[in-house]
Amino acid sequence: MTFSFSDTVLGWYHQHGRKHLPWQQDITPYRVWVSEIMLQQTQVSTVIAYYERFMQRFPDVFALAKAEQDEVLHLWTGLGYYARGRNLHACAKAVVNQYDGHFPEDLDALEQLPGIGRSTAAAIASISMGMRAAIMDGNVKRVLTRFYAIEGWPGQTAINKQLWQLAESLAPEHSFREYTQGMMDLGATLCTRSKPACGICPLQPQCAGYASGNPTQFPNPKPKKEKPEKHTIMLMIENSAGERWLYQRPQQGLWGGLWSFPEVADEQEALAWLRQNLGLEPREMNWLPTFRHTFSHYHLHIQPLHVRFNGGAQTVQQGQGHWYNPTKPSELGLAAPVKKLLRSQL
Ligand code: SF4
Repeated sequence: MTFSFSDTVLGWYHQHGRKHLPWQQDITPYRVWVSEIMLQQTQVSTVIAYYERFMQRFPDVFALAKAEQDEVLHLWTGLGYYARGRNLHACAKAVVNQYDGHFPEDLDALEQLPGIGRSTAAAIASISMGMRAAIMDGNVKRVLTRFYAIEGWPGQTAINKQLWQLAESLAPEHSFREYTQGMMDLGATLCTRSKPACGICPLQPQCAGYASGNPTQFPNPKPKKEKPEKHTIMLMIENSAGERWLYQRPQQGLWGGLWSFPEVADEQEALAWLRQNLGLEPREMNWLPTFRHTFSHYHLHIQPLHVRFNGGAQTVQQGQGHWYNPTKPSELGLAAPVKKLLRSQL
């Protein structure tokens, strides 16, 4: 019998694939879309609880489009990559305003929406609309680079193009939803990053990566570059009621739209900042231990400077900020290190 890649994946999916994840129930474009965005760079086991909370609060695209951005980001806090949360909100508004709340049944139109790339558009189209469309998430990349023993980093244009061509040519003529889910599941549960279960993989007899004796060499890693180190001081300004001063960062750039501590370069700048922005003279300033926060492209060393002054919120100019009570937290989207610092102070 001749080998068919898609029939093999489909056969395996019917027997072993995951069919009980929350976004696999009551399938709609909205539910699939939210799950796809959450699952980018985040594990299924982490996403489930976030997804369920999110669906409870925003059961459909209209509810999400109507929400305040702060509330959306608050429910996103902990998932990281906040641009995804902001784009999700912007996309919901676009679907409501441009398409009366119905996701367009057209790959190109889906791709025009904020935060939806080619693979996410294909996942929405194949899983919730039954369209023939190939996805290319991390799982699929891993399976294909191993199956064909493709040399080179998949981020390179030529390799990326080759992978898309393969994925499109391998997609079956039917059962698109099952095939897409099967590819995701096979990558997530069998062809895993560090310990592929080749012994029970249905693709093994034809897999060139397995035949090479070292399938985990694929996909080849990105050529290494040292991450630069950056430094900052975060001002944790505390009033006599134990509240901390936070401000909302600009929408564009790092931690866009999230609430954070003000940042300065040194102690002198800290004093000047406190006078100019809040009109206050500190009673006490203490350095707290520096910690490192790592982004995809650099390390940030954060040194917190704890500032106390006599008086409550009313004794300083409010500025553009918010007095945050860590024991009665308000529903704000917080930058990850800020959340960590606030917790460490409880
Ligand atoms: S045989 Fe191994 S390397 Fe090849 S696809 Fe299956 S799990 Fe991945």
